[in-house]
Amino acid sequence: MTRVVVVGGGVGGIVAALRARQLGADVTLLEARSVVGGLASGLELDGMVFDGGPYILLDRIRLAWAFEQVGLGLDSLDMVEMDPAYRMQLANGQAIAICSDLEETVAAIDAVEPGTGETYRTFANRAASALAHLAPLLVRPHHPLEPLKTGAWRAGAWAALSLDQVLRRNNLTGVAADAVRIWTYIAGGDPGRAPGPLALVPALIHRDGAARPAGGIHRVIALLEAELRRVGVVVETSTPVASINHDSAGVTGVTGVTTESGGQLDADIVISDVGGATALLDLIDAPLPRSLKLRMAGPLQSPGVTAYLAVRGTPSAEINFQVDGTPKQATAFISGGDPQGSNGERPGRIVAPLSHDRAVELGESGQAALLERLVDQAWWRDGIEDVQIVGRRLVSDWGREFRLRDDAMNLVMARRQLLLGRLPHRIAHMPGLYLAGSWTHPGQWISFCSVSGVLAADRAMKDCEMKDSA
Ligand SMILES: Cc1cc2nc3c(=O)[nH]c(=O)nc-3n(C[C@H](O)[C@H](O)[C@H](O)COP(=O)(O)OP(=O)(O)OC[C@H]3O[C@@H](n4cnc5c(N)ncnc54)[C@H](O)[C@@H]3O)c2cc1C
Repeated sequence: MTRVVVVGGGVGGIVAALRARQLGADVTLLEARSVVGGLASGLELDGMVFDGGPYILLDRIRLAWAFEQVGLGLDSLDMVEMDPAYRMQLANGQAIAICSDLEETVAAIDAVEPGTGETYRTFANRAASALAHLAPLLVRPHHPLEPLKTGAWRAGAWAALSLDQVLRRNNLTGVAADAVRIWTYIAGGDPGRAPGPLALVPALIHRDGAARPAGGIHRVIALLEAELRRVGVVVETSTPVASINHDSAGVTGVTGVTTESGGQLDADIVISDVGGATALLDLIDAPLPRSLKLRMAGPLQSPGVTAYLAVRGTPSAEINFQVDGTPKQATAFISGGDPQGSNGERPGRIVAPLSHDRAVELGESGQAALLERLVDQAWWRDGIEDVQIVGRRLVSDWGREFRLRDDAMNLVMARRQLLLGRLPHRIAHMPGLYLAGSWTHPGQWISFCSVSGVLAADRAMKDCEMKDSA
């Protein structure tokens, strides 16, 4: 039986483990923390359960696709529709709600910027048609000529240009443009460099709506974790892998700090979910080809800073964004779920992205001061009677807890990556080594990380089959 070791139990690693198991492998997953789930894990503070990082599923279709590939459905997650998907607070004090219903959104935009709603409607319809052309390419590796065969080339401009170029081509300006750019601002990105496909988000929202599982995004992890155990994947937590071992023919296994097998675990295939740079630069002792170095170059994405809040009252929407400053930056106030606290408090969060450079420049004390200032602001307090801060994560806290190299989650989503190519699932210079997770997909939502897990395991198992039959 093929022996697969998965290093790192984030969404990408868990899905890769499930898929490899489904394809008949003997699978062990090694996770450094005491629980699996990575950045998508929940955390308990003051008797309340919070989502640590992610708060919204914008791309249920691809998450459902990945789940299906490992024999799961999203039904048991009991999805809560988020409508409005989000609310945006404008600099002049007005706010607009972006709803799943396109006409309602057009009216909301027109109410604050008369005339812009019509342009938004045209834009959203064009985005829907571009999404229909591009969607099949997002869930499978494709031949370079496939876009010609399938007609995806028609949406070429959306795929090849930057987000701002796409918006300009479609004459989308002002509030309507910021409503689309918000997903780039909140990831600490630059719309001038962000990839054009981020302009497809309105198509997702107006076609599928936005959702989260009842109870929070960490329920996705609970479901995946139960499945790991059900299908017999061996899960060893509190087991940081120190190295991925190899000989001249390729990988031979891993050395984990506390693996029960005395630190060494042999494997035919190693799938790493610990971040492309960590796997290739720190865990494996082999020179890196120039092509991979090029793909790994580029601005890093910081997890930013987060304050976890116990909130009393009824917030105006689950997700409230504010965009301000030059260059523009976003802050989110997220309040998910029913009251859990003893006095009717519900969990809330302030999430503020930072560029990696800015995070380094601010240092821990600057980040803490920034977070305090953001929590003190008034824009997100509509309908809120009382707030207590029950926890926080600065950039270095995320880095320490999740072993993020340089305190960064992955590369910032950029057009450059789409043109150069993401890090591949198969590492050609090291037979037997495969990558899953956010470094291997141009999108970095948990839907894409799940897709990456399926694709990495499929590639690995197919290569193994071919090797065995040769
Ligand atoms: C604040 C914030 C908000 C976000 N919002 C959203 C959102 O709304 N929607 C969305 O879809 N996505 C969102 N994301 C992104 C999403 O959470 C991540 O892209 C995704 O969870 C990453 O999964 P992954 O599989 O790449 O790996 P990770 O989650 O990075 O998991 C890697 C795992 O490897 C483990 N590990 C590291 N080193 C070792 C080692 N040496 N040995 C063993 N194990 C190791 C780590 O402990 C970790 O568990 C957000 C992220 C953050 C931080």
